[in-house]
Amino acid sequence: MARDMATATGTGTRDLAEWAAERGVKYFMVSYTDLFGGQRAKLAPAAAINDMAADGAGFAGFATWLDLTPAHPDMLAVPDPASAIQLPWKPEVAWLASNCVMDGADLAQAPRNVLRRQIEKAAELGLHVKTGVEPEFFLLSPDGAELSDAYDTAAKPCYDQQAVMRRCDVIAEISDCMLGLGWEPYQSDHEDANGQFEMNWKYDNVLATADKHSFFKFMTRSIAEKHGMRATFMPKPIAGKTGNGCHAHISVWDGSGRVNAFADNSKELGLSDQGRAFLGGIMKHASALAAICNPTVNSYKRINAPRTISGATWAPNSVTWTGNNRTHMVRVPGPGRFELRLPDGAVNPYLLQAVIIAAGLSGIRTNADPGPRHDIDMYKDGHTVTGAPKLPLNLLDAIRAYDADEELKEAMGPEFSAAFIKLKTQEWNAYASHFTQWERDNTLDI
Ligand code: ADP
Ligand code: MG
Ligand code: MG
Ligand code: MG
Ligand code: MG
Repeated sequence: MARDMATATGTGTRDLAEWAAERGVKYFMVSYTDLFGGQRAKLAPAAAINDMAADGAGFAGFATWLDLTPAHPDMLAVPDPASAIQLPWKPEVAWLASNCVMDGADLAQAPRNVLRRQIEKAAELGLHVKTGVEPEFFLLSPDGAELSDAYDTAAKPCYDQQAVMRRCDVIAEISDCMLGLGWEPYQSDHEDANGQFEMNWKYDNVLATADKHSFFKFMTRSIAEKHGMRATFMPKPIAGKTGNGCHAHISVWDGSGRVNAFADNSKELGLSDQGRAFLGGIMKHASALAAICNPTVNSYKRINAPRTISGATWAPNSVTWTGNNRTHMVRVPGPGRFELRLPDGAVNPYLLQAVIIAAGLSGIRTNADPGPRHDIDMYKDGHTVTGAPKLPLNLLDAIRAYDADEELKEAMGPEFSAAFIKLKTQEWNAYASHFTQWERDNTLDI
């Protein structure tokens, strides 16, 4: 069953036991994503799946990152049948994205629910969001300590044909999976850091993209493991080398999903007034957006980074936008869409899309002005731009910026915002209390 408008909000119907029998699926992985982007699952035999589809699979929510206590009742992961994917590399198992429910209601802070609410808000304005993501990843040795390919040492390794050839078995296997799933993959390449790759498939309705993004990470890790490697989406796994971005491309369509409401060739860069206002919301909330788009301590070694060995970080440092120029936070590569280059590989696939919609809708409601565009090389001439905020320098600054953005906190949902700020502040505190060699090296003789 193709995903269509009826399933756009993530509660499609389908007889999963029948679906499994037709395909030889013996087990379902009933999966949900927690606030830190971790995917949690129970493996359910196909014979038991229809009960689970109705009632959900039970989880002790406290045991994952959802800001629940051990005293909370069971959390139920109710699978969205429209999300079912038979694992191409293990066809007797299928994966199901689930919606978290507690006490008969959607658990407000669960990321897929946060996104579903934003989709509903967009629909109330007659809008239908379509997005694509570009997840970058490294292929490392199984222990993560070094690159999987000892020969991948070029100073400018982007598009390195021989290095792609050496990893063709892994990359082509993942690409074959996407072809079989009908995702319409169209290119894969060696990216700008040694050991780094990117694979691209066609954009889709925003919930489908978030599910695919989650599944892509699961699939890439699983297939890399099969080949004796470790795939990582960590924002900056190797000092001095380009980090793992996860750019998002956004367009907003009319309710039917057929007319791109962002496209207007009579306007600047082919972006309609509505597209411009949506972009205005992204620019206005950018510092707060970083907490979601760059959610780890390590994320801040990718943005605001010094020049890499290859010559450029390809990551933004300030809140600026432009046309087809990759040195800014937002790039308008062509008419009818824009690219947000802020997110990194640690971004939660659901919260990424949710925060884009929340900020964008706030822009549409207030007819926000994105400000002037700057067609300059930000890496070289960024200092000439006055008035553009610098992106947060670390996770704590980003959490504080999010906490200070009352409008965005409210738009994302007060329960979600409180839970996210609380857990991320705990994470920051754990990091800050961790003793490092750097402190010893720089403080011992003070
Ligand atoms: P680049 O590296 O130049 O930023 P890629 O080709 O790697 O671009 O990725 C572009 C992404 O944007 C893909 O996921 C593509 O499907 C998506 N995309 C293209 N057109 C649109 C659109 N109108 N709306 C949303 N996403 C789009
Ligand atoms: Mg038990
Ligand atoms: Mg790309
Ligand atoms: Mg890239
Ligand atoms: Mg890009």
